[in-house]
Amino acid sequence: MTEEQRDLAQEKREKRKRVKRMKTFIVTFLSVWIMLSILLTTVLCIKVYSLQKQIDKLAESVENAAATATAVSDTDQGSVRVEPVTEAIAKENLAEEGDVHKVYLTFDDGPSDNTDAILEILNEYNVKATFFVVGKEDQESRDRMKRIVDEGHTIGMHSYAHKYSEIYSSLENFSTDVEKMQNLIEDATGVRCMIYRFPGSSSNMISNTDMTDYIRYLNEQGIAYYDWNVSSGDSTSQVYTADELVENVMNDVVKYKTSVVLLHDSEGKETTVEALSSLIERLQEINAEILPITDDTVRIQYMTVSANN
Ligand code: ZN
Repeated sequence: MTEEQRDLAQEKREKRKRVKRMKTFIVTFLSVWIMLSILLTTVLCIKVYSLQKQIDKLAESVENAAATATAVSDTDQGSVRVEPVTEAIAKENLAEEGDVHKVYLTFDDGPSDNTDAILEILNEYNVKATFFVVGKEDQESRDRMKRIVDEGHTIGMHSYAHKYSEIYSSLENFSTDVEKMQNLIEDATGVRCMIYRFPGSSSNMISNTDMTDYIRYLNEQGIAYYDWNVSSGDSTSQVYTADELVENVMNDVVKYKTSVVLLHDSEGKETTVEALSSLIERLQEINAEILPITDDTVRIQYMTVSANN
């Protein structure tokens, strides 16, 4: 082998080595890049999911924010309007000396074990209330819905899914959810339910949704919606004792002719159950009329839409 041939062989070997190094580099680079992409996507997915949960949670806490809504009359104002209930309108609902306070106890987010306990107490005092239920399909929940109706209380819809991101994402999703809940209640109780409470109220801003379409949809269906003007605080981030829940309600009830009181009968609301007897007794002490919501009930709404037609 001449020296020239040796050099050539040497050069070829080195070239092969270089190519091999290059290949290793490219493969390593691609592997790392793919892995990083997967990692990043996973992290982003988790982030989106947790943000979604936070939004739902935040929206839920809005249900318990101090309420300023009040009675709204059903007068037409000409063109379509959406307006938050103003302080001026709130004045119409302010109680005057000698007025009998009408109090509507409303329980959201059930049914659950606590619903049974609440129904027992209401029975004991012969008091009727209103339950805004969510989409629970199991037999026990259906039986509780039936019990609510059979014992003379009013049953209302509080959406099937109770997930803001779902129900407030489009009118189609909203109306499908309403129908689903209406059908479940009818199936369980025989009652075609025509009253509704918006999760987060009709002025819910959390989902960054314009509520107009949803309100108009309910109006078209002849479904009446009710917000509240008295909040017990049983679902706020601040945890109240049973006595404090009673005080929260009593402090506001005395101000109004009509009070729609926000309470919850979902899982974990044992303090509400605990507070109920003394709440009823305190209301009876001031001669308040405790009533279930009916067609005649003054509509306490944060937001209204009316059309001139
Ligand atoms: Zn709710």
